[in-house]
Amino acid sequence: MDALTTFDGRPGPSDTLGRAMRDLRISVTDRCNFRCTYCMPKEVFGRDYAFLPRDQVLRFEEIERLARAFVGLGVDKLRITGGEPLVRRDLPDLIAMLAAIRRPDGGLLDLTLTTNGSALRGLAGPLVDAGLQRVTVSLDSLDDEVFGAMNGIDFPVAKVLDGIDAAIEAGLTPVKINMVVRRGINESSIVPMAAWARKRGVILRYIEYMDVGHSNGWRLDEVVPAAELVETIGAAWPIEAAEPAYRGEVAGRWRYLDDGGEIGIISSVTQPFCRDCTRARISAEGKLYTCLFAAEGHDLRAILRSDASDAELSTVIERIWLARGDRYSELRSAATSTLPRIEMFAMGG
Ligand code: SAM
Repeated sequence: MDALTTFDGRPGPSDTLGRAMRDLRISVTDRCNFRCTYCMPKEVFGRDYAFLPRDQVLRFEEIERLARAFVGLGVDKLRITGGEPLVRRDLPDLIAMLAAIRRPDGGLLDLTLTTNGSALRGLAGPLVDAGLQRVTVSLDSLDDEVFGAMNGIDFPVAKVLDGIDAAIEAGLTPVKINMVVRRGINESSIVPMAAWARKRGVILRYIEYMDVGHSNGWRLDEVVPAAELVETIGAAWPIEAAEPAYRGEVAGRWRYLDDGGEIGIISSVTQPFCRDCTRARISAEGKLYTCLFAAEGHDLRAILRSDASDAELSTVIERIWLARGDRYSELRSAATSTLPRIEMFAMGG
């Protein structure tokens, strides 16, 4: 395959495994108001933890310039993340800048955001007005005791549910819900969450607990495998596998046979999907990561803050993608568990 003809036949660089670059996840802050035990445990990320100083975080104009460069190279989906993206001041202003970007063929971008939902009641409307299309909200349980322990700050379920209601009312639909499943911690929430999602008309996605970063003390025996999740849900309501919506979709899709909608299962650990991974990630400080499990990023902020032209910026990004060969999840083993890795909140989840 020629490096500039990708697996979907559209223009853009193709990496060493033939993968196109289609999704860009942009972290707008490394800060978060939650202290989820599997992501930013409070024992590690306490009061005196040194988050990035403001001048090291990309400005909105820098993020927009980067996004334009990526879109010029074939990206058609932008996901805003963090840390918690809604803690970034004036976020709707950034959304408006990104919503104005068009693909080379003039088409609209897919523009979405992942949030813990805690600030959605106030922000859902302004985000829609700015051009945001959809949101994914993270929620690990409907049980306050379980959720409060997992989010690390006893944040109440009701406030996240209210944020989800606000997103639906504002038209940020279909709302997707991310639930990280940890053996022995929130397994009892698997079926109640599905029952709620079916009723509320949201798409629930179960995420296998991943070994991102090094702070969460990850162990394989805490992962509830995708196959077991399918069995548990299927025992409550019959389901069948559905075709992926597009190549590179992260979640395996399952449809309820009774028209109760669908669920997704993100099985990075037991059924890796590296071969279809079309995602690039930009951290809040402007590093480009070509894998969620990468040990190092490429400093794009230095280029943005130099006198490099847009064409030079694009060439750097294109070269990085052409050289990409990451497939950590396919290689995961006891030996890889000790390799250096960046924390997910720092890279942008
Ligand atoms: N703060 C936002 C949120 O809560 O959705 C966005 C950032 S968060 C890092 C993005 C997603 O990563 C969340 O759905 C979170 O549950 C998930 N996540 C974080 N650490 C994880 C881990 N170790 N394994 C699986 N998913 C994880």
